[in-house]
Amino acid sequence: MPELPEVETVVRTLRPLVAGRTFVAVELLRNDIHTPPTANLVTLLTNQQVTDISRRGKKILLNLSSGQTLCIHLGMTGRLTVESPNLPIPKHTHFLATLNSKPPTQLRFRDPRRFGGLTFLSNPADAHIDLGPEPLTLRPAQLAKILSRTRRPIKSALLDQSLIAGLGNIYADEALFLSQIHPLTPANTLSPAQISKLNRAIKHILKKAIHHKGSTLRDYVDATGQPGSFHKLHHVYARQSKPCTRCGQPITRLVISGRSAHFCPKCQSP
Ligand SMILES: [Zn+2]
Repeated sequence: MPELPEVETVVRTLRPLVAGRTFVAVELLRNDIHTPPTANLVTLLTNQQVTDISRRGKKILLNLSSGQTLCIHLGMTGRLTVESPNLPIPKHTHFLATLNSKPPTQLRFRDPRRFGGLTFLSNPADAHIDLGPEPLTLRPAQLAKILSRTRRPIKSALLDQSLIAGLGNIYADEALFLSQIHPLTPANTLSPAQISKLNRAIKHILKKAIHHKGSTLRDYVDATGQPGSFHKLHHVYARQSKPCTRCGQPITRLVISGRSAHFCPKCQSP
């Protein structure tokens, strides 16, 4: 599932291809992939210029000349790419927007499992509803305050988008490994030293993953169709039974609140 580094990479590769361009033709191939369901996306988006593209948490925000915003969530299997309109339209493509570029290009949203989707926001400020702060600019005191309010395992707290926006299973596991914290540790019991270490680890892992254009485990590609390469550098995620890169102990997998957690039982002992 695309997390902050993958979404940031999509935004960075999308920006030069889409920013400043106008949607000259818009096609919605399914009617159940957008909210609000009553919004007529074709009418609302046709002839709108994309003034800017940004990211908030795991969401991609396309700001429009109307002052409104199209928010795109990739979910599990979503892909947002810019291609020639002459290329065949693959199965599970739900949205097409032709841009006024020369030669013509087309923004395409494809999502086989449909956990992603499009949200039309009349008020761009609504993109921040229910989202915690961005981890790349989070200060240790802010993280300490957030974590002091929950007794849930630290792994579950890091996945909660209302606490911190953008982390998912991969980068939460990798950040906990780097900071040598056991994933089941109650969030409110971390020491100030552990919190600063965790805050540094989160930033380090996200920046490194953005540098490597994200992790491609299954479907993820950037706006130009290129996969990321950070999965080759994972220390724990999806490495169960393989030796820990630091101590050689086999990496363990545990299910916490229905989500898998990968960790080194020795380096991250409670
Ligand atoms: Zn280890």
